[in-house]
Amino acid sequence: MTHDTLSMTINGQAADSQNRLEVVNPASGEVFASVPDAGASELEAAIAAARAAFPGWRDTPWAERAAIVNRIGETIAANAAKLAKMLTREQGKPAEQAQFEVMAAAQWCQATATLSLPDREVEAGPGRRQVTRYVPIGVVAGISPWNFPVVLSIWKIAPALLAGNTLVLKPSPFTPMTVLRIGELIRDFVPAGVINIITGGDTLGPMMTAHPGFDKVSFTGSTATGRRVMESAAPTLKRLTLELGGNDAAIVMPDVNVPETAAKLFWSAFTNSGQVCVATKRAYVHDDIYDAFRDEMAKLAKAVPMGDGSQQGVALGPIQNKPQYDRVKGLLADCEANSYGLLRGEAPQDGGFFVPVTLVDNPPEESRIVREEQFGPILPLIRFTDVEDAISRANNTDMGLAGTVWSADTDTAMRIAERLETGNVWINEGLALSPFAAFGGRKQSGVGVENGVEGLMAYTEPKTFVVAG
Ligand code: NAD
Repeated sequence: MTHDTLSMTINGQAADSQNRLEVVNPASGEVFASVPDAGASELEAAIAAARAAFPGWRDTPWAERAAIVNRIGETIAANAAKLAKMLTREQGKPAEQAQFEVMAAAQWCQATATLSLPDREVEAGPGRRQVTRYVPIGVVAGISPWNFPVVLSIWKIAPALLAGNTLVLKPSPFTPMTVLRIGELIRDFVPAGVINIITGGDTLGPMMTAHPGFDKVSFTGSTATGRRVMESAAPTLKRLTLELGGNDAAIVMPDVNVPETAAKLFWSAFTNSGQVCVATKRAYVHDDIYDAFRDEMAKLAKAVPMGDGSQQGVALGPIQNKPQYDRVKGLLADCEANSYGLLRGEAPQDGGFFVPVTLVDNPPEESRIVREEQFGPILPLIRFTDVEDAISRANNTDMGLAGTVWSADTDTAMRIAERLETGNVWINEGLALSPFAAFGGRKQSGVGVENGVEGLMAYTEPKTFVVAG
């Protein structure tokens, strides 16, 4: 079955382009579909549609906008099985996890639709009334990555629309299909121009961020690209939300139940084959339990079934794309060249972009695998004896997305958590996100937040009205 008929959504209509972008199945390394490769003229059309739709959408009552955002969620849920299948094929993740992502996207729409930003009466002294209202910004450019293409696109679509903005969304060229399909499913009930979905290659993102037709850019991707986005937004002072890379540390205290914690931390690090912005990317493990913990993790690494995500029983899929595969293999080669101890699981030998789950046994703090974001199934385990030292090593990075603390004593864990310089921190679990809680990175992991009331506010600007008398 091919999916070469998927269309972009511009002004509520199906839109194609002259050029095509090939889509590769990462489990086989083979091209299996193509999608429109939009250029300047399609971008202009999408921006014009979004600009024309803005006044009408801005003035649509909040409750009506919320109903449409909710209906997007219902539509995604009603089509979840087919969407999940498409997602596995283009992204590589196992069927169950693809289903989980699609359902999370549906749930996110429905939860976001319940949020509101009421006017705020502000003290103004005698003889006047003062009210702050959260008004939409205008036309938003949404740019999403390939690791969670559906849910991370919805994190932009739902709050942008609810707050009264119109949007042009561009998924990653590596994973364009499922988001295009969602556009097709919703275009008959979202007013024309309110949401436009376009796909294209490497030049489309920079064209968007530099375009004066956008008032805000909401970007999720790497820190390196985030810097470029910020630069190109400067000439027109576009509002920015940047959700960027991480190098999340785990601190494992000596009082944990080793097998239980190892199992949880394993999935905190290796879900989606490590391609999660908030995956555990370095684990500092107390010396007293280090050997037992490493051995337990190694057992799990050996046992976890990796393969084509569409096959039954597969728990981990391939790296999503060739450039990332090469990067991850480069990090492994660096570990090998430096003779770090490696404990590996099994992976298919040929075909797709597979890298076996790999634990790196106590590499030095300054090694590349500790300092850089791997975004793949390799995890360094690092010994510590003094928790103060572990905290300072965890914080010794330009990244500040999230972190985890593992201890039987949650008060102690909380005191450690308070000192981690990150936007999120989990105690005795990982990866738990909520549509109601602000999520974002500190330092060079981002600017601003998504989700919750604070994330919704990021699609608005406060406007203050003063009425005399
Ligand atoms: P990326 O930066 O390569 O690409 C992200 C998106 O930006 C894609 O749609 C891409 O086409 C587009 N793009 C590329 N160059 C651009 C430019 N110059 N201007 C505008 N757009 C451009 O990131 P990726 O490889 O797709 O994703 C992996 C990275 O994303 C990792 O670093 C990961 O940690 C991060 N990430 C962060 C979060 C978060 O919420 N903080 C979530 C998921 C992923």
